[in-house]
Amino acid sequence: MQLIKKVFFIDFDGTITQRDTCAAMVEAFADEGWQQINELWERREISTEECANKTFQLFHATMDDLSQLLDAIKIDENFGDFLNFCNKNGYPVYILSDGYDFCIEYILKKHGFKIPYYANHLEYEKGFRISCTYYNQDCGLCGTCKRFLLERLTQPGSQVVYVGDGISDICPASHSDLVFAKGRLLDYCRAEGIFAIPVAGFAGVLEKLD
Ligand SMILES: [Mg+2]
Ligand SMILES: [Zn+2]
Repeated sequence: MQLIKKVFFIDFDGTITQRDTCAAMVEAFADEGWQQINELWERREISTEECANKTFQLFHATMDDLSQLLDAIKIDENFGDFLNFCNKNGYPVYILSDGYDFCIEYILKKHGFKIPYYANHLEYEKGFRISCTYYNQDCGLCGTCKRFLLERLTQPGSQVVYVGDGISDICPASHSDLVFAKGRLLDYCRAEGIFAIPVAGFAGVLEKLD
């Protein structure tokens, strides 16, 4: 019997990290008014790019402030074990994020992890700004359209496994073969009748995979 090869797609904020770095940035750096912008985004009325760039206009912070903030972000304690498990079995792992490349790079580097990731590009010049390299015109909302990337990166015949926790994970999760979910993604899967295994973190993912 030939084993079906798994491929893992992992959300970053709130899934690999314990706290969502985008939310942490907003709470630390933004003036009042970001809540209304965020609500529009949650209702899918504005795109990620529009939401982020509008929110950044309310920011008072520099790249150094951001680095300091990121130093305080903790990751899931079992994420390293999960990566070892995938390496041992030859399963590819990709990070798909509608957050910011700078934050992902910073945190992965700090922990010595080398994982391919796809995210929005964050830059700083008299203020923060993002640009969206993996925008998909057919979608029109995500900065980094996870479903589009998931389809592009999957080899035919592999089993697609998704791990996530939020709104931007709904679309790719509904196009995966197996979903591990927590938070709002789990609520959504339950409401929509999408099969998802509830987990609190990567310890739960590893336990279920064994
Ligand atoms: Mg998330
Ligand atoms: Zn999309």
